[in-house]
Formats: sequence, structure tokens, C-alpha cells
Amino acid sequence: MSQNQSNTPGRPTGRQFFFNPGPTHIPDRVLGAMHRPTIDFMAPEFKQVLERVHERTKRVLKTEQHLLYYGTNGHGAWEGSLANVFSPGDKLLMLESGHFSINWAKMAGELGLEVELLPADWRRGVATGALEERLRQDTGLTIKGIMVVHNETATGLVHPIADIRAEMDAAGHPALLLVDTISSLASFDFRFDEWRVDLAVGSSQKGLMMITGLAFVAISTRAMAASEQAQITRSFVDWRQMMTVAPQRFPGTTPVHLFYGLEEALGMLEAEGLEAVFDRHARLAGAVRAAVRHWGGDAASGVRIVDGELSGPVAAVELLCANPSRVSDTVTAVLTPTGFDANELRRIALERYNLSLGQGLGPLAGKVFRIGHLGDLNEPMVLGALATIELAMRESGMKHHAGGTEAAVNALSGN
Ligand code: PLP
Repeated sequence: MSQNQSNTPGRPTGRQFFFNPGPTHIPDRVLGAMHRPTIDFMAPEFKQVLERVHERTKRVLKTEQHLLYYGTNGHGAWEGSLANVFSPGDKLLMLESGHFSINWAKMAGELGLEVELLPADWRRGVATGALEERLRQDTGLTIKGIMVVHNETATGLVHPIADIRAEMDAAGHPALLLVDTISSLASFDFRFDEWRVDLAVGSSQKGLMMITGLAFVAISTRAMAASEQAQITRSFVDWRQMMTVAPQRFPGTTPVHLFYGLEEALGMLEAEGLEAVFDRHARLAGAVRAAVRHWGGDAASGVRIVDGELSGPVAAVELLCANPSRVSDTVTAVLTPTGFDANELRRIALERYNLSLGQGLGPLAGKVFRIGHLGDLNEPMVLGALATIELAMRESGMKHHAGGTEAAVNALSGN
């Protein structure tokens, strides 16, 4: 399929507007960088590419500690983070934020770890101070790790990592801090060393603007030391083995093309400047939120989401994230009025207009749609998507105030 063709059957014109919160648009330059003949993954020229990708990724993560890549997706790196530092029966505490927090916790359980959820309303996240309070109760220091999804892609909610580290410090608790940065990294600020994160999991297909298939774990010196004692059975993901395979630090054949593509993407981020990339994401996210607020007439229902269940009816379109200081700059989850199937709106957007939106995940299926606004995007793309969502709202009969796109224009203008 040529790059200008639609990838939706029956809609041959134009390019598909892909507004899922990952994978994301892949810049032509990145696709082009992978269009090359095979070379030996042990060749000296490729070794240099690998070295550069590691160094550049570390700059995005803001770390000078360890980094290991896997040829896998985010789930694979989730496992690579957990299996290397813990032993069966170790206790972990997961800050609840939605589908991905629950699933990472579930994986930890399947690996033989004991996971306690620090419960939260999915619209607000864990309350400030709750982590410190829970850690102060752990006088026997039984909790070995704190798990948190920086940007919960299912709910559009951010847990502030610097504050979480501050609560751990205030409680004087030595647990390792594990952070999923899969839908935040390279889109808004993350500081591995400064925030003293011990393990950060990332993946290629979101803010890094690449195809799916490369994932990584940033590892603190403390976590690397812990891996010497960890008893979970592991092989492919085992850091001890990876650290000894020179030069690629990779078990088996290294996916050469993925690294060429990622190097190009990292170069693009550097050329724009990381701060400018963050500003762009904040600006575009502000426009999306302005549109959603307008569609719903600034509705604030007070509905809570506990264990995935809504506490009451939703009358109007509303931002799922009800904590304004925690809204995500990469994904906006939108609650739709009760009785309306959010997937009907998504179907119309896709089938009639070739606009792909994210679905509600887990128990939020049909109640939520998600607008991804991360990666290689600009104002016309976002405005085009918002106008098309409004068109699909009108055609699907979903109650809304017309003029959300204009509200987005107003938010962008002069910003
Ligand atoms: N964590 C978060 C926050 C995600 O958004 C996703 C995927 O969207 C994952 C984990 C899982 O990553 P993958 O689908 O690459 O396995």
C-alpha cells in the first residue's frame, strides 16, 4: 500500500487519521530510515547505531544509569522489569489508575509476586498522601516495590512521579520505584535519575514515533544490584545474560531495522528539542480538552469510577479525568452520556470518515472513547480530528454542544 492510500477498506481517498493513543503516526523519515538492505547485526557500523540509540534514549529518559532493549512490546518489558529484581512471594504495591495499572499488577501476580492495590477512583488517581500513609504502616518493610503507571492510557490520568518519590522519602521507605512510561516518554517530562526511579519501562510505538517491536527498561544501579539476588525463573529477559552478550546486549538476532528507525525518530525529537516537543503536546492536549469541555457544556457530574464501575449516570460528554492537575497531555479519555454506545461514534468516525479513535478499555468499553494526541502531530491534524469527531457526534445522535472545534481553535490561538 502506498503511503497516500487509506488503510480502511472502502475508503480509498486520503490518509487515515490515526488518533488512537498508540501506536501513533510514523513519520515518513522514520519509515524511510528502515527501508534499507539487511546488514550483519555484528557489523561495526551497526554497533555504532546501537550505541547511539542507547545514549540518545538515555537522554530522553534523563538517566546516566543502565538501559536494556528488548525486541518486544510494552508487555514484554513489563515482564523484563519484574522478573529481574524480585523473588516469588515478594510484595509490591500498585497505585491504581485504570486498565494498564490493573494489568501490570496482574502480570506481577502471575509471576508469583504478591500485589496490593493502593485503591483509587479512576477519575482522580491515588490521593496525595495516601502512599506515604500506607508506607508508614509498613513498619516491617515488607513492601519491596512501588509500581505506578506514569500516564494511564486507559483513563487519561497522570500520576506525578516526583511527588510519589517525595512521599516514599517522607515515609523513609526503601522500596524500589517502578514506573511505566509507555505513553508518557518523549511526550511530557520524565526524569529517571532526578526522581530516583529504579525501573522505567518504555516502548517504541507511542511518543517515540516508531513501529511496535522495541521496548526497553531503564535500570538504576540499585535495581541492577537487586537482580543478582532475584529468584524469579527467567531466561530471555534475564539481564545477567544480556549484560554479557557483547556488543549488542541483546539475546539473539538484533532487529537492525528497528534500531535504524528509532535512531531517526530520536534524531527528530532532538532536532525539535525535547522541551519544544513537550510544549507542543501540552498545547495540542489543551485544544482537545477545550473541545471536550465545550461539547459537554462544562459538565462536572461528580460520577466516580471504582473498580471500573461508574457510580451513577453520565448526563453529558465529559473528560474522564476529573483532576485538572492530573490530566494527560498524550491521551484524552471521554465519558459519553449514559445510554449511548461510544463505539457507535467510533464506528461512524472510522467507516465514514477514516478517523480511528481509541476504545474504552476493560469495564469502560462502550462508555468511553479516547483521543490520542501524541507523537508526530500538529495543529491541523488535531483540528481535523476534532472537527470529524464533532461530525460523527452529530450523525450518531450523541448529545453535544456544537462548536467544540472552535473552542479548540480559541485554545490554540495565541498559544
Ligand atoms: N502500559 C501502558 C501505559 C500502555 O498504554 C500500554 C499500551 O497501550 C501498555 C502498557 C502495553 O504495551 P504494549 O501494548 O506495547 O504491550
